Amino acid sequence: MSTLPLLRFPQGLFPELRAQLLTDSSRETFALLFGQRHRVGEHELIKIVSAHYPRPQDYEDQGLAHLRLKRQYIYDRLVEVQQRGDVDTLIDVHTHPFCSQGAAFSGTDDRDERAFHSWLTDTLDDIHYASIVLSRSDYAARLWRREAEGSVACPARIKTQVVSENWPCAGDPALADIALAEADPEHGFLARSVLALGLDNLRRMTHGQRLAVVGVGGLGSVIAENLIHTGFQALDLIDPDRVEITNLNRIVGAYYQDAVENRLKVEVVRDHLQRINPRAEIGAHAFGVEDEAALSVLAQADWIMLATDSQYSRFKAQEIALRFGIPLISSGVNITVTDGEITDMSGEVIVARTGDRLCLHCLGRINPTEVAAEQHKNDFLGQELVRRGYVDGQEVKEPAVKTLNSLISSMAVDALVNQYTERQLHKPLWIYENNEGACIYPDYHSVETRKKYCYFCAGE
Ligand SMILES: [Zn+2]
Ligand SMILES: [Zn+2]
Repeated sequence: MSTLPLLRFPQGLFPELRAQLLTDSSRETFALLFGQRHRVGEHELIKIVSAHYPRPQDYEDQGLAHLRLKRQYIYDRLVEVQQRGDVDTLIDVHTHPFCSQGAAFSGTDDRDERAFHSWLTDTLDDIHYASIVLSRSDYAARLWRREAEGSVACPARIKTQVVSENWPCAGDPALADIALAEADPEHGFLARSVLALGLDNLRRMTHGQRLAVVGVGGLGSVIAENLIHTGFQALDLIDPDRVEITNLNRIVGAYYQDAVENRLKVEVVRDHLQRINPRAEIGAHAFGVEDEAALSVLAQADWIMLATDSQYSRFKAQEIALRFGIPLISSGVNITVTDGEITDMSGEVIVARTGDRLCLHCLGRINPTEVAAEQHKNDFLGQELVRRGYVDGQEVKEPAVKTLNSLISSMAVDALVNQYTERQLHKPLWIYENNEGACIYPDYHSVETRKKYCYFCAGE
């Protein structure tokens, strides 16, 4: 697992930055990004929050191979970063328009940035500093740190919400050069997938991509199996529960003996996936997403596949995804039985990327009372909420059938694959209903009528 610091861009911002800065090929241009730094275990990441582009009059001097900004411009931005409560990191971005490929910081860049970082850490508390240089087709990025010997730069990588928005890091292998043994037309287990999706798409989906599956029950186990069959190579499974006899009607990879032995779901599902693809890297994490330990697993994820039915874990997963700037795909199912008859059988898949200003909260998919009841299920508040009838008891057994679960799981993985292939126009919310008849449709209404000014996803 790569431990290089990550600069995570919200949807749309990295292409916007390049369009703003690289249209002028006659001279260097500049932008300042504001970010939020997170340190989780050994991982460090900066969530990019917004960008500021200087006006022409903010430049002191600007040429093909140099630029200088007016002191006042820098001063104003320093005031801004201190006044805003949501950011603590400055990321300076400049271009080398004379360089078509192989972006690299120059000796002048090194000197200027080191001096700025030293000054910054001497002058202001807890303001971090990173930098990006763009050629006309790739980038180099680094994070500055204060070490005993002074300011030291550590190479960093850019992550975008969807791979197509990213650019290669100078020096990394080109997509076309990435070997994919699984794609071998005779002996590769993805030979037929390549025929459907194309080799470049499969490389995009497999190279350097790590997915977290939160909840490996009836939905999550099928999602995980679909991901492995699709070709994803690195998964982290997160679920604290153990297999019970009553799970055997829907968990893929769980056998009778697993229930007898009361094995952990994550281990049972991992063993199953590993038998399909022994080379896949599967992490089995027997804790809930609300556990502190989940943070370092999720901080490294390229997508979070959310497949739990607990309101509290859905709340936590969405909160972590937005905090770290990680795109999330949520799936959920519902079966309502009234007087012994099914009156609703439905499910939905939500794609919530950071920067889309859309999340489970503003879509009304999270019930704060149920979150509170689950969060406090072992203490007085939770028991009172149940006793007074605000929420159902904790141990209510929901009806569940495999057919519905596998349909929704397939829709979730299809929605994910589409984020790589971009075969279809992105639609954030898909509904499956099997009532009068079976049908699948995009739900524009929920998207249009979602709560505006969402505290969780619209912050900036
Ligand atoms: Zn430079
Ligand atoms: Zn929201």
